[in-house]
Amino acid sequence: MDIVDRIKELREKIEYHNKKYFEEDAPEITDYEYDLIFRELNNLEQQHPELVSPESPTKKVGGKTKREAKKIAHDVPMLSLDDRFSREEVADFITKIQKEFKEPVFIVEYKIDGLSVALRYRDGNFVEGMTRGDGVRYGEDITENLKMIDSVPLSIHEYLPYLEVRGEVYMDNEAFEAVNERQEEIEGKTFANPRNCAAGTMRQLDPNVVAERDLSILVFNLQAVQGKEFTSHAETLDWLSTKGFLVPQYIKCTSEKEVWDAITLIGETRGDLPFGIDGAVVKLDNLADRERLGASSKVPRWAIAYKYPPEEKPTKVLNIEVNVGRTGRLTPLAILEPVRLAGTTVSRASLHNQDQIDRLDIRIGDTVIVRKAAEIIPEIIRVIKEQRPEGNVPFKIPDRCPVCGAPALRGEDVADIRCSGINCPAQLARLIIHFASRDAMDIEGLGPAAVHSLMDKGYIRNIADIYYLKNYRDEFIANGITPRPRKELALRKDGQPRKQKEPDYTASTDNLLSAIERSKDQSLERLINGFGIPNIGKHTGSILEDNFPDIHAIAMISYDKYKQLKETEKQLKKERSRLQKKLKASTMTEDLNMLNDVNKKLSNVEKELKANGDIKGIGEVSIKAISNFFAEPQTRVILERLEQAGVNMKSRSSSKVNDNRLEGATFVLTGTLPTLSREEASQIIKEHCGRVAGSVSKKTTYLLAGEGAGDKMNKAQSLGIKIITEDEFLNMID
Ligand SMILES: [Zn+2]
Repeated sequence: MDIVDRIKELREKIEYHNKKYFEEDAPEITDYEYDLIFRELNNLEQQHPELVSPESPTKKVGGKTKREAKKIAHDVPMLSLDDRFSREEVADFITKIQKEFKEPVFIVEYKIDGLSVALRYRDGNFVEGMTRGDGVRYGEDITENLKMIDSVPLSIHEYLPYLEVRGEVYMDNEAFEAVNERQEEIEGKTFANPRNCAAGTMRQLDPNVVAERDLSILVFNLQAVQGKEFTSHAETLDWLSTKGFLVPQYIKCTSEKEVWDAITLIGETRGDLPFGIDGAVVKLDNLADRERLGASSKVPRWAIAYKYPPEEKPTKVLNIEVNVGRTGRLTPLAILEPVRLAGTTVSRASLHNQDQIDRLDIRIGDTVIVRKAAEIIPEIIRVIKEQRPEGNVPFKIPDRCPVCGAPALRGEDVADIRCSGINCPAQLARLIIHFASRDAMDIEGLGPAAVHSLMDKGYIRNIADIYYLKNYRDEFIANGITPRPRKELALRKDGQPRKQKEPDYTASTDNLLSAIERSKDQSLERLINGFGIPNIGKHTGSILEDNFPDIHAIAMISYDKYKQLKETEKQLKKERSRLQKKLKASTMTEDLNMLNDVNKKLSNVEKELKANGDIKGIGEVSIKAISNFFAEPQTRVILERLEQAGVNMKSRSSSKVNDNRLEGATFVLTGTLPTLSREEASQIIKEHCGRVAGSVSKKTTYLLAGEGAGDKMNKAQSLGIKIITEDEFLNMID
């Protein structure tokens, strides 16, 4: 490939990954891989200045922002750092500085993986904050979101006309996991790693979301100050720390060896930090010297970032465990012989799903290569097949839930296998939250926080318990069990503790209980959706409601029966076509009788098939899921208790379907009807099992004619077909 093509390819690659990273918070490659591509492009452009264009990603700083937000102009550019990938490259930086200054001091800090922001204080108070934006001219205003972060001091308790600091908003590993767990429960988007989660959260328009997620900020540079003098970077960090800012730990170094030792030390211990880091930063300590060196258009000349490479090591798969997540997903987890990687001891790695296991062909006992990058999740990248012990067998995820024993099913077109237990402890919180959600039973006031609170206190142990909460009304009013607005939130808005009113829980309790009562009357479709049966959502719920009189009829659907009937149907159809062929050759009364007999049997089988879920819009996987779900003893218990509580179990649309008064009749429509549109009339005919045809023939039973009927009317008259008005038509079904 020639240079021009390679540059073009790299630019496109970078633009693509920029979009994934900055706009969608869903990167497809590791930061390390990204940095390497970026560097290759940068090097090529330096070797071939004639190919440099202002449009190149190397000429832009940072990413585009996700939405049009208020912009704030930068006073001090928020530049990125020049990346180094080896000791030689770090040494090169040190040597250059040492040539320039006498006995320079270097500061080595860890580089946290987050979202870069600047904070501004006037007269000691926090006034505004912004993202990096284009890095040079404007950043995006995120002041309100920053106020929600506990480690952003709202006041520094010192009168300074102006202070600007730069930091990194991040999420520690624990907070990150909590967010993903909550996201799973509400079936929302989960985040690939803490950095994306922190960045995605800060771009939220609603500061309350920021308050809910436990973000922190590490301040690593003093950008500008008035009313105070500093001579060194270390001095500014120490001072910032006394003002309530969280600052990175740093190591002071005076030689290349000391710098490298510091980098190595940070690398070896980075796994012990509660958050992810993506490198180490080496900075010149003396502020006046920094000033003299200045910056290029994109990076400062007084600092570099060393990027730790992802580490790969072989280890053994001791076992494969199957865990059940909050969404009921069965996730295979490889238990590994512990191995030290990227500063942490890795002893497990998710295998994601059966497809992943099959693709890599991972078996218990295999020796595998594990890789860990700055992102916190270790992964198995391949099996060393030569070291495979004899006789080990491919691994299959079991078809029963390891937690509750209910059948576990693979959905259509997805790799996930999910447990179908309605009481499965592993996914109970999500099931209950889903049941009460807007798309299902729509119980206002019973959101995730309320569900957790009621579950923690033991009031809700399954879906049915919701309808027995009214028995505890007095307790709720006395103890305030129903959720109330978050206290911290009210506290953060004006920075002062809120005046505590004596709470009165009567209203909130009664509101919740009456919302629960109202939900008893929800449609069958919503109830079915509420059960959270894998693969069965609102759409299937509505088809089921249209075709069955009540939940009990749906509960009779048997997958085994369905399979048997399908087989019988196939045989009968074969027999029918054999007889039909025979009858074409010669008409024998005997064969005719047999054909009639086969047709009768077929129609019975088809009726039975319908009762077992063989309905347009419902596939075999869904039939299996429904059949399994209702066959479970735990489901039966829940259904009984729901019914006793008075929850609607009847279909409201099936009366129409069971009405087959127009069965066997073929209608043709013509002219304009007085009240019904053609579509409405056709719909009614179909709902009563009639047929609608486009043109009049001998087979037509009725011509439904309105004003302006023409040719069709004449033809019907000539064929002696009954012509009816809309009134007559409506009488037929009334
Ligand atoms: Zn289960």
